[in-house]
Amino acid sequence: MLAMNAHPEADRITQERLQLALESAQMGTWDFDFQNQDRVINHRTASMLGFDPDDVTQTTVDSWLSLVHPEDRHKIVEATQIYRKGLSDIISIEYRVRHRLGHYIWVQSYGKLVERDHRGRPKRVVGTLRDITEQKQREVVQQKQRQLLDLINQAHATFLINHDIKDACEALFAPLLRLSECQFGLIGVVRPNEQGAPSLVVPTMSISTQAHGHQSCEYLDLNNLFGRVVSANETIVVQDGLQHGVRPIWPEGVQPMSNFLGLPIRFDNEVVGLIGLGERAQDFDQAILDLLMPLASTLGTLIHARRQEEARMEAEQEWLRLATEDTLTGLPNRRHFFDVAETCLLQTRRYGNPMTVALLDLDNFKQINDTYGHSTGDEVLRVLADILRQALRDSDTPARIGGEEFAVILTSTSLEDSVNALERIRATLSLTPIHVDKRTLHATVSIGAVQWDPDTHEHVHGMLQQADAALYRAKRRGRNRVEVHQPFDTEPFNETPQDTGWGLLGLA
Ligand code: GH3
Ligand code: MG
Ligand code: MG
Repeated sequence: MLAMNAHPEADRITQERLQLALESAQMGTWDFDFQNQDRVINHRTASMLGFDPDDVTQTTVDSWLSLVHPEDRHKIVEATQIYRKGLSDIISIEYRVRHRLGHYIWVQSYGKLVERDHRGRPKRVVGTLRDITEQKQREVVQQKQRQLLDLINQAHATFLINHDIKDACEALFAPLLRLSECQFGLIGVVRPNEQGAPSLVVPTMSISTQAHGHQSCEYLDLNNLFGRVVSANETIVVQDGLQHGVRPIWPEGVQPMSNFLGLPIRFDNEVVGLIGLGERAQDFDQAILDLLMPLASTLGTLIHARRQEEARMEAEQEWLRLATEDTLTGLPNRRHFFDVAETCLLQTRRYGNPMTVALLDLDNFKQINDTYGHSTGDEVLRVLADILRQALRDSDTPARIGGEEFAVILTSTSLEDSVNALERIRATLSLTPIHVDKRTLHATVSIGAVQWDPDTHEHVHGMLQQADAALYRAKRRGRNRVEVHQPFDTEPFNETPQDTGWGLLGLA
């Protein structure tokens, strides 16, 4: 073989074969001289970069470096250092070089140090250059798809964990903006407004616009770029948003952007939200749309699931409200009162805090009904309920436990303070004018109270019986008064009242 190479004809054939091998592998070659810093490139390398092969075959290292992507230049500098330090004679690197038309192509450069001077310093490196742009693009797509899968997983996790949709959306922004290479992003959710028409709630936008910061905003009017994605249920792409002539209607408070993509989020073909992206360095193309589709459809399912959950929770709350609330006055009902009272008594027994239970019964209520009508009677019940709500603290519990009978629990309150509060309630009702047609009436209430006694009160029932007895005394002593049960009360509480027709509250 060596002998053959020494032959000029064989040499030529070898050269031709090498040339053919390089051509078929679509490889260019280069040759770098360390002394004069010249870099010679062959025709193939020149045409790879879009240059006329006859014009450019020799470049200086600086002019070559100027074509290399600024972020990749260090790779070439480092390779040169490795040859200089004698760390390796063969180096393979991948970097981006600017094509004559302005875009970058990815190349793989394989260089071998073939000559050193007498002091061992590198003299000449020869290498091949291969265009690996397609392979790199495929890698980028694969990387994006991996990022997308991560994002979809994250969307599942955040929507399951964060009951607050704003937090869930915020958690998705950073990876979404990274994936789409955008500066601006938002996720909007469609909600019916009070009239049932769709409105667009944007729980949060990416911080970069500064338009709304982290504030959530609601667009009732869908006549803007975001709204149109929802109202038309279609993808909207704006490429030259800042150019004159094309003036998209940006939503109020949103700065115009160089470009924008609005992608409907759908469930079962119904639009339930939108992904908005903007300020992308490149134009929005089909590739980015294709990439984001699976995310949009995942968000569609998640938003739908969230809506279902909200509807279920609302129904549950409504059911709970109906089960615990008195519909006429909005106060807790009898059943709920007994639950609360037992819980309060448990707390009181554990911590020894004072607690008062009072029973209230409207005076001569039958007469009010008979004189003014049932609906006026109802109004009186509502007036007393309002007074109770206003006069008591949040920690106290007023309730309607019968027709015209109410009960109150005052927790962590001394007997004296309780009596003062009850006295205020009594006085307020008696002074409150209740207007019926052109007439005005004043209603009064009698109140019986009892303070929790650790020695005798094990259950709420016992306290209520004693409050009932005190209430009976209030009735007997002329009504419109507050009576407190005394520990050595001897007055019977379970006798049938003769004078009033008033009876026990079904507690005996
Ligand atoms: P006393 O001062 O002794 O309590 O006399 P009273 O008339 O208030 O007592 P009584 O028990 O004789 O009458 C209670 C009345 O309350 C009878 C009933 O028709 C009326 N009532 C019960 N529930 C309601 C209601 O929801 N709305 C109205 N308007 N009246 C009711
Ligand atoms: Mg009564
Ligand atoms: Mg009554």
